[in-house]
Amino acid sequence: MDKPWLATRLAKGASIEAIARDVGRHPSTVAYWVNRHDLASSHAPKHTARGGIARETLEPLVADGLSVQQIAERLGRGGTTIRYWLGKHELATIHARPASLADRPAVLLRRCRKHGYTQHVAVAAGRRYRCKRCRVEAVTARRRRVKAVLVSEAGGRCSLCGYERFAGALQFHHHDPGEKAFGLGDRGLARSMARARVEAQKCMLVCANCHAEIEGGIATIDQSTAADRLG
Ligand SMILES: [Zn+2]
Ligand SMILES: [Zn+2]
Repeated sequence: MDKPWLATRLAKGASIEAIARDVGRHPSTVAYWVNRHDLASSHAPKHTARGGIARETLEPLVADGLSVQQIAERLGRGGTTIRYWLGKHELATIHARPASLADRPAVLLRRCRKHGYTQHVAVAAGRRYRCKRCRVEAVTARRRRVKAVLVSEAGGRCSLCGYERFAGALQFHHHDPGEKAFGLGDRGLARSMARARVEAQKCMLVCANCHAEIEGGIATIDQSTAADRLG
């Protein structure tokens, strides 16, 4: 499958499935060529636009004993691009260790059971590849789980008005801003359960409306009422 054509289709946002339909091939075949042409990274079209690297350019640098990284720096290109063109011209640097994990690309196009063909990133020092979208979803799901636990431990409802319908609208308000180590928004919930729990214990659980009223100085926190409600 022709590299410039494939790069152009990908740059225009075509999915692997759409390209496969156009050329009458199986999506896995298209994915194979995307990886073969080093096009999985979103930066790939830029490299393509800058064209190939001629054998005449690479040969003397390889002969001088330069490593892939040194050649990349010399030519102002990425290591992946250099490796690709070295392979294409069947040249190998003296430092080359073809089977090493370090030579595996950081991003590969693979088929995810859930998301179809997506970018997969190298994890565990390049031993495995994981779907980027699955990874994002896993982080979001974990935050939601951490929040559900903290919300239930804090009584499960707004300590001022009793609102409890949607955990997403419940927030943690620090009693004493001076004791605040971090907020319990998205970032705070990405920390360990133990650390998030310590932080939640410095807070009262309130709904978004009551929280805004507290911050605006409209609602006053009656500690005894709050304590009653929290039981
Ligand atoms: Zn996935
Ligand atoms: Zn409320």
